[in-house]
This record gives sequence, structure tokens and C-alpha cells, in this order.
Amino acid sequence: MKESTKLPLTPLVNAGRYLPPLKRRYHVMAKPSGSTCNLDCSYCFYLHKEQLLHQDRDKGMSDEVLENFIRQYIATQDGEEIVFSWQGGEPTLMGLDFFRKVVELQKKYQPKHQRIENDLQTNGFLINDEWAEFLKEHRFLVGVSIDGPRELHDRYRVTRSGKPTFDRVMRGIETLKRHGVSFNTLVVINRVNARFPKEVYHFLTETVGSTYIQFIPCVEPVEFKHTAPQFWRDDTIPITGTRRAHPGDLDSIVTDWSVDPDDWGSFLIGAFEEWVNHDLGRVQVNVFETAVVQTMGLPAQLCVTAEFCGKALAMEKNGDVFSCDHYVYPEYKLGNIHRQSLAQMVFSERQQAFGMGKKNTLPEYCKTCPHLKLCWGECPKNRIVRAPDGETGLNYLCPGLKAFFSTAKPTLEKIAAMIQASPPL
Ligand code: SF4
Ligand code: SF4
Repeated sequence: MKESTKLPLTPLVNAGRYLPPLKRRYHVMAKPSGSTCNLDCSYCFYLHKEQLLHQDRDKGMSDEVLENFIRQYIATQDGEEIVFSWQGGEPTLMGLDFFRKVVELQKKYQPKHQRIENDLQTNGFLINDEWAEFLKEHRFLVGVSIDGPRELHDRYRVTRSGKPTFDRVMRGIETLKRHGVSFNTLVVINRVNARFPKEVYHFLTETVGSTYIQFIPCVEPVEFKHTAPQFWRDDTIPITGTRRAHPGDLDSIVTDWSVDPDDWGSFLIGAFEEWVNHDLGRVQVNVFETAVVQTMGLPAQLCVTAEFCGKALAMEKNGDVFSCDHYVYPEYKLGNIHRQSLAQMVFSERQQAFGMGKKNTLPEYCKTCPHLKLCWGECPKNRIVRAPDGETGLNYLCPGLKAFFSTAKPTLEKIAAMIQASPPL
């Protein structure tokens, strides 16, 4: 474990000193229902937070927390656009009245010169006409989780009683489409669907009609329920490419459903080929768009491939704020919006150290990698293996990332050159 990747566990008494003179932009993922969900997906990284954070399952976000959050979130940002993201657990479990309150409060605090947007990430299960009308009227952008065609989706995305969910999710998507709600698809690439890149890609673009796709690799250390990232025991960390650094081994460091690092590479290569050949400029795929943009020398569009991170925090239903959605562990709690201001937490020395740690803790293996500027060691939560020379802090997905970047490089360069040569719109 690298000491420097841990947050300094100091109280936030001095945080106010680090408030910048000007307001800034940042992003908080709010979790109004906490980890409560109506499904029980095998790979969910959030369901166990109920025990970890001692949450009361029956209580959602109170009116007091909601209003305090909306007021502070708006007051501390000076961009033209303020984006609220509602996630879970399953946020639709809060009911429509909660979200009616959300838009009322946003109107109450909205300054004239700023636009407010809302994102809602859902499993699509509860979406009906009433929800769709509301989401359309208030211009919510909806992210729907779907893992591919029926047999791939139902492999891990099941109800609490283990039943398949594909039909209900597809019905939810059809309802959104009928009402003209903007939606994108969030696809968790796991050990099984990773082997079917073309099937998954064409299902999303053709059957679902998705024009914005987010591919998220499933990487879950076996100890993820009780051990926070970067707090792993040093002597248990394997070298990249060895038996324990793959899923399926009895002593593997990741869960059975985690994507194999090599399969992540072949999945990206397969889907990239389809994207380039059929959908360039028509369909947006998070990983590919940012690779093009970064090839052009512009800043990353995703935190995971950015040089630094730390500007995307998470807030639990009781107002507790954490460094990132993937770092909702007591060790990474920054405070609570009733006791510290959001700005104090977001711009605190502690959170800055967290964001800078993404670059500052890269192993030598990454620093000398030809793909560094497209990858930046990917997300620190996935840095759970050793480099071939034994140094800790290498990303579990590294073999796949390398394979993808090496294969895609010439095409990425051609696309970047094409864009740079085209006249501005
Ligand atoms: S820790 Fe990972 S997911 Fe969180 S902000 Fe950093 S790169 Fe993004
Ligand atoms: S491809 Fe591997 S070695 Fe290169 S920057 Fe990414 S994680 Fe590091």
C-alpha cells in the first residue's frame, strides 16, 4: 500500500483557509435513497454501504438535507451550468414527489445567469408514463443501466429474489423513448459480457437505439465490502498478469464477476472497430470520445483517464460527503453538509491531496509508458496490482488498456487529424 495515496486523516478545522477567492465548478453525485435498491445485482459496489455506513434502510434523504445541499451546491459554483446528478442505490425509490421538491428548490435558489440541469441514473425498473412525463418536462438526462442482450443482461442484473430484469428495463427504455426523454446507456463490462463486444455494441446502438454509451469496467477486489481502496495489505498484492491478478482463480484478488484485464482490452478493441466503421460522429462512447480528445492534446472528458481527479464527490442521504463515488468509505469521509460547508470540503487540502494523488502515486512503469497521456494509470481504485518489477500501485486493467491503446493509436491519430483539419462549425 502506498501511504501517499491515502487521504491525510486530519480533522477539517483548517479547511476554510483553503477556500479559493473565486467560486469554482465541481460535481457531487447525490444519493437520496442511499444504497437502497429494488434490485440485487451481483456486482453492485454500493449495496453493502448500508452495513458499512450503518444506514437506516427505511429512511431516504430528509427535506432538510435536500434543501441544504441544493442551496449550497448552487451558491458555490460560478459556471454557466450547474449539473445535479441523482444516483443510488436506486433514486427512483424516493418517488416522484421527492423529485418535484428537487425542481422546486432548484427554482427557489437558481440565480438568473445560471442554468440548472439534472441527471438521473436508474435501473429503469420503475419508469412508467408518469415518470417519463416528469423527466421530459424538466429536461432530466436519464442514464439507464443495461448490460447487453437478454442473456448477458440477466446474468448479473437480477431482482432481490433472483429474477431476471431484462423485460422490465426494456419496457422502461421504451417508455422514455415514447416520451422523447433524453437517455444514455451505462453498461458494466463484467467477466461474461466482455467476451461479446460486437453483440453488446450492436444491441445498444440498434435494438436499444442508444446514441450515448458509457462502458464501465467491473473491477471489484474480494475485500471491497470492508477494505477501503489503498488500504489493502501489501503482502497480498500480486504482480500484473499472474494467476491471482485474473478473476476465476481460487486465490484471485478480484470477485468472480470482475472483468478479466485481457478481456477488457479485447472488448474495447472489438467495440472500437464497430464504432469507427459504423457510428463515428453519430454515437458517442465515453472511452472512445475521450481517447480522441486526449489524442488531440485536449483535457480528458472522463475522470478515470485524466491526469488528476478529485472534482467529482459523492454525498450520502444523511449529508455525509466523500471524496468520490468509489471512495464511500469512512476513511474517505470529508465531513457533513450540516457541519461543514460543501465548499470547505470540496476545496479542502485533504480533497486536493486526493485528486493530486492520482498522478503523484503513479508507479515508474506508468511514468515510462507510451500511453501515459491517454491513460494516466486509470482510476486509483483499480490500482490493486504490482508492476512487473514489483512496485505497487499499478492498475489491474493495465494489460487490457495497453492492448487497446496500442491497437487504437493509429486510428485515433487519423480521427484526431481529421477533426483538426475540418473547418470550425
Ligand atoms: S477515484 Fe477514480 S472514479 Fe473517483 S474521481 Fe478519481 S478517477 Fe474518477
Ligand atoms: S497502460 Fe498501463 S502502464 Fe500505461 S499508463 Fe495505463 S496503467 Fe500505466
